[in-house]
Amino acid sequence: MPPLATYSLPADKLEEVADRLLTCADRVIGPVRTPPGDLFFDVVRSVNEIELQYGNSLLPPTTALFPMAEEIFSVVGGTPPVIRAPRSDASCLLFGIRPCDVAAIQRLDHFFLDGEFKDDLYAARRSRTAIVAVACSQKADARCFCSCCDTGPFAKTGYDLQLSLVDDTYLVEVGTEQGRRLAQRLSDLLGVADDDLILERERRAQELFTELEQKGNMPSAIRRITGEAVSQAVWERIGGRCMGCGGCSFVCPVCSCFYVIDQTLPDGTVQRIRAQDSCRLAGYTREASGHNPRALPSQRAARYSYHKLSYRYIEREGTQGCVGCGRCVTVCLGGVHMPAVTEMIRREA
Ligand code: SF4
Ligand code: SF4
Repeated sequence: MPPLATYSLPADKLEEVADRLLTCADRVIGPVRTPPGDLFFDVVRSVNEIELQYGNSLLPPTTALFPMAEEIFSVVGGTPPVIRAPRSDASCLLFGIRPCDVAAIQRLDHFFLDGEFKDDLYAARRSRTAIVAVACSQKADARCFCSCCDTGPFAKTGYDLQLSLVDDTYLVEVGTEQGRRLAQRLSDLLGVADDDLILERERRAQELFTELEQKGNMPSAIRRITGEAVSQAVWERIGGRCMGCGGCSFVCPVCSCFYVIDQTLPDGTVQRIRAQDSCRLAGYTREASGHNPRALPSQRAARYSYHKLSYRYIEREGTQGCVGCGRCVTVCLGGVHMPAVTEMIRREA
């Protein structure tokens, strides 16, 4: 989808842009480096904290919309008991997120909002969240492969504003009416984006696309998984190396499984919590009887890959369940992350 408007911005004005955007929402979440050197998406208080030259953060910015754990409601004792639901009207601006994570948010939107049941918690957060993406002008990380998933190096939709660096100028794209309102706040800094700037961004994106394209083996894996052509031996090889830690799901910006539990606090308050879950964990499908339909790591590996790459799910969810962010490559101790699995499947073919 073409942007609603395009502008140019001198690169040395980026700090001022970030500074102004800090006042556009109750909280701004952006890439922040902690003193030991790790990069997290966290609340930004000052523009100096933002770091845009980052390899992908281990935890994705999608946790701002779908947290690792959250309270749904609590019941405080008494007669009658009082039910409290933690609700906030605070607005949020996600600043500096990469195109792959923009694509992941679109997939989460579809999962949580477009089905028969809408998720109230997600819907409330999402309706108050604006997205300012920064396109990748160079390979963000040795592990990423967005070009295999059609999610980068710049976002085609899903952003409110997107900034793409071309030499000493940013191409600023407005994706939504909310983005238009943000751009108005910056109007004195923005200039006309001429055709040369737009074409040069396209040319460089194509160059980067070619550099990234070698990884992933996605089409072959999608074909073979959809056709149930992957042999049991391959799933067993993958399962044999999987430690069942669930790390690949917990860092994945696309994974959306969760469980719900009630817990009693020392003061007697009962809290209902929802927390992210992983189909790679042995207990994920264990039934109350003790029977587990996917007791073996190979069965869980097959299920995980099937859910992410089978065309049947792609058709239902609109996109494949991997945006090529490369986070599972960082976290998987068994070396059976998404690029490794798709490569094993392609080799078997
Ligand atoms: S991160 Fe690797 S080892 Fe851990 S559950 Fe996922 S595939 Fe298995
Ligand atoms: S499967 Fe791996 S590479 Fe793909 S989106 Fe999830 S974490 Fe990123």
